[in-house]
Amino acid sequence: MHFIQAKSLLSSKNGMNIFRGCTHGCIYCDSRSLCYQMPHAFSDVAVKENAPSLLDAALSRKRKKGMIGFGSMSDPYIPEESSLRLTQQCLEIIARRGFGVSLITKSDLVLRDIDILKEIQERAKAVVSVTLTTADDTLCRKIEPNVCPTSRRVEVLYALRDAGIPTVVWLCPILPYINDTKENLEGILSICREAEVKGILSFGFGMTLREGCREYFYQKLDELFPGLSARYAAEFGLRYAVESPNAAELERVFSAFCEKEGIERRPERIFSYLYGMERDRQATLF
Ligand code: SF4
Repeated sequence: MHFIQAKSLLSSKNGMNIFRGCTHGCIYCDSRSLCYQMPHAFSDVAVKENAPSLLDAALSRKRKKGMIGFGSMSDPYIPEESSLRLTQQCLEIIARRGFGVSLITKSDLVLRDIDILKEIQERAKAVVSVTLTTADDTLCRKIEPNVCPTSRRVEVLYALRDAGIPTVVWLCPILPYINDTKENLEGILSICREAEVKGILSFGFGMTLREGCREYFYQKLDELFPGLSARYAAEFGLRYAVESPNAAELERVFSAFCEKEGIERRPERIFSYLYGMERDRQATLF
């Protein structure tokens, strides 16, 4: 980890990343891809230590309140955040200035900030997205080694539900021959039902692989699933979008479940919910 002074923080669409790089170690992470031109090792996280002051200044200049998005490129609750408290300070600023927040994480550290999220939800809107890729903790520890396993994320979803903070589950990526079984999908979907999530985001049943991400992923496959990288190379070559051979069946199970349970699955509707300030009762989604 190293500290930097960032020049700016908020993107034109009000997205922000306090960290550049991530230590959760997900074997499939797209943020490792070379196209992002990270000038340091991915796990040597660059910490924008002036993020709170940049955010405060940016929000003070805005005439219209809106949703602030956290975590598209790096999890805002990496283990280092427990002592850094930069995500927490940014949430406090968002609460004080009356903005909304939409963040995505895999970590139970988000529960540390549940009171601030409640405050934001009461005054504006707070939505927490949690990624679930497998219902099996043993598999989860292999593919997402440095963050809490699924069983703990389920507790996070329940705690957020009980606190009145809406949640969305990101059901991705689906890795061919690893987590692409019907049983795994059904396990995740039953968690979503119990947690009363507002939506489930799936981008088809597959993953993306590009330079940088692919090499790291194959190296991890060789360690964890011997023989599988050769199968991927033979089957998918240098393809960017890699689809599970079970995609059609998984899509059927997923659609039927969402239909039956009345859970939103259309990405465009979910994204407008995540980044629009309308509360549940007014949102077009529900
Ligand atoms: S939590 Fe997200 S950013 Fe971090 S390693 Fe995993 S996929 Fe990459």
